[in-house]
Amino acid sequence: KSTAAVPKLTMSDGREIPALGLGTYLGFDKNGMVSSKDKQHRDLVLKAIDLGYRHFDTASIYNTEDEIGEAVEMKIAERVVTREDVFVTTKLWNTQHKQEEVASAVWDALEKSGLDYIDLYLMHWPIGLNADYSFSDVDFMETWRGLEDVHKLGLVKSIGVSNFNKEQLQRLLEEGSVRPVVLQIEVHPQMIQEDLISFARSEDITVMGYSPFGFLVERFGKQFPGPKMDDPVLMEIALKYGKTPAQVVLRWLVDRNVIPIPKTVNPKRLKENISIFDFKLEQDEIEKINRFNSNKRYTEPSFWQTHPHYPFEQVKDILPDPFKGLGTI
Ligand code: NDP
Repeated sequence: KSTAAVPKLTMSDGREIPALGLGTYLGFDKNGMVSSKDKQHRDLVLKAIDLGYRHFDTASIYNTEDEIGEAVEMKIAERVVTREDVFVTTKLWNTQHKQEEVASAVWDALEKSGLDYIDLYLMHWPIGLNADYSFSDVDFMETWRGLEDVHKLGLVKSIGVSNFNKEQLQRLLEEGSVRPVVLQIEVHPQMIQEDLISFARSEDITVMGYSPFGFLVERFGKQFPGPKMDDPVLMEIALKYGKTPAQVVLRWLVDRNVIPIPKTVNPKRLKENISIFDFKLEQDEIEKINRFNSNKRYTEPSFWQTHPHYPFEQVKDILPDPFKGLGTI
């Protein structure tokens, strides 16, 4: 039934990780993170497993851990997959950064998903916040010790971080007892992350690339400046391989050894996004796409930029904090 076998990469702890994952952040509205209705997302994940997806990227804040877990459980019962075939990544939210809060956050993720372990647990941000979203002074090294605890307990098989910059990663490598095996960061044609990716590679840290389509696509009804899917450079490469520009962009990540985690809720695009393991880009094609770089971030939570552990450059126009006033999520 499955249309594609997704290759695997080996992480520095010796465990394997599928070279492509399904993103499951469904958006944000006035009530917080959007969640699935009527098991729609569970059904999408069922379809994804049939198509060959074995890796799911979620987070406590996305509200999708439950339906991913339910779909995985159903496919195990149908004997389509075993638990070992599936790789689930989830993330610790910023309001649970105290060392002793990490284990309860993991128990919560296990309970929601119905899984008995998590494959990869990431610290979502280096930024610690209080329950009311004011800045907390919990240092990310304390939080990392919490991740080391749950790793030791076997509740999570591998641990890593997301949205850390180079200096923060260096500190983690110097002061931590367990090395992070994965760094998840924004990677797309306008944010190619050359420096951070080569630093991660030099430390044997596997990179996962989020928002792989960057500004090429309209997001939640909003258009952004820059090249679009019909850009002539992408179109030319796509034509050469008989692929779509979206597939070319995903392959550009794979050929740079970055694990793309494209999100889609559309069954046709679900199949399109996994059908990228039967071609490979030439070096000059990779470089042509690299030239789109403008270091533009889509995820730029400038409302946290005065936090002592904010990982990105400061900007002039500060966005309002969408989390404030939502209460404890
Ligand atoms: P993506 O780059 O995956 O883009 C998703 C958008 O592209 C959606 O609007 C989707 O629409 C559309 N799309 C998907 N496939 C195609 C295609 N083949 N052709 C044209 N359009 C397409 O963005 P995300 O920001 O969702 O990033 C992916 C995942 O990364 C997230 O879901 C999440 O798991 C993770 N992430 C992690 C972050 C972190 O802080 N660690 C931050 C942001 C994301 P449609 O659904 O209608 O197909």
